[in-house]
Amino acid sequence: MRMFQVCVCGQPLQCNEAPTPEPKGSEILLKVLAAGVCHSDLHLADGWFDLGGGKKLSLADRGMKLPVTLGHENVGEVVAVGPDAKSVKIGARILAHPWIGCGICGPCSRGEENLCRTMRSLGVFTNGGYADYMIVPHPRYLFDIGELDSTRAAPLACSGVTTFGALKKVSTIKTEPTVIIGAGGLGLMCQALHKMMGGHSAIVIDTDPVKRAAAKKAGAAHVVDGGAPNASQQIIDITNGGAWAVIDLVGSSQSARIGYESLIKGGKYIIVGLYGGDLTVSLPPIPMRAQTIQGSYVGSLPEMKELIELVKSKGLPPVPVATRPLKDVNAVMDQLRAGKVVGRVVLTPA
Ligand SMILES: [Zn+2]
Ligand SMILES: [Zn+2]
Repeated sequence: MRMFQVCVCGQPLQCNEAPTPEPKGSEILLKVLAAGVCHSDLHLADGWFDLGGGKKLSLADRGMKLPVTLGHENVGEVVAVGPDAKSVKIGARILAHPWIGCGICGPCSRGEENLCRTMRSLGVFTNGGYADYMIVPHPRYLFDIGELDSTRAAPLACSGVTTFGALKKVSTIKTEPTVIIGAGGLGLMCQALHKMMGGHSAIVIDTDPVKRAAAKKAGAAHVVDGGAPNASQQIIDITNGGAWAVIDLVGSSQSARIGYESLIKGGKYIIVGLYGGDLTVSLPPIPMRAQTIQGSYVGSLPEMKELIELVKSKGLPPVPVATRPLKDVNAVMDQLRAGKVVGRVVLTPA
């Protein structure tokens, strides 16, 4: 089988061939039908995150070993199962939950494998779906998607559950506007799920007029140019005093300043995006204004289950999805790096 791997950080993915693996124990072998290309794949291929102030977070230090096959937004068809995974039906079309922990530590036993300190995430620390086939370690990470379209369902594995996990942290979702920074693939997904969850209204911030237009078309009550020097003030004006919740899907120094500065007393700034940078804040206003700065990393297994149930009852989020053949993965990543993707690009076997 073919697999597109990071072999050297900073270099394009290499197409390597290997025998198709045979599932052992509780493992399941999937034929990959759809693999979404995520912005974090760019960081994984580069091998580092920008910590701001010239500092870098190396992924090798976080346990990433090369070579590794990228691709963490996968839908596949079950083609073989290990002896301890006989309950899984051959031929089922499933979404693979990629945020896999050790399974035994405190967070894992509480159902928060996404907070495990020794994660084995598919397409990050173990081989993912930019390949003809992939292995999932246990049936509990499989979600049957029934008749749902595989290319439109694949982004639920990261883009979907990540924004869902962030939206679940917003207690005012139904009663106050939610500010969403970023209107790329993640932003449009966040906006769609916000609506499906009965969200009050969305105010979307982006520096790119094309992306702001996409957000407006997707139903944003207001859009604000993130490049405007008074972006925070505009949000404060629109919300009559400040935002109760800001979800920052960019996570740059600039977006963090806009997000944090636009909060009302008691407001919450939730960082999801991993663009990189830093934020310097005065401390007294945090207690005096009872503000929260919270990080949100992907989503838990129970959140994925809840998201799939939401999608099965309300339909797939209407996020624009384009498909490209797997062999074009490097071209797609270049396109994403250049900021030229509206919505999501999903790789297919063809
Ligand atoms: Zn991702
Ligand atoms: Zn664990």
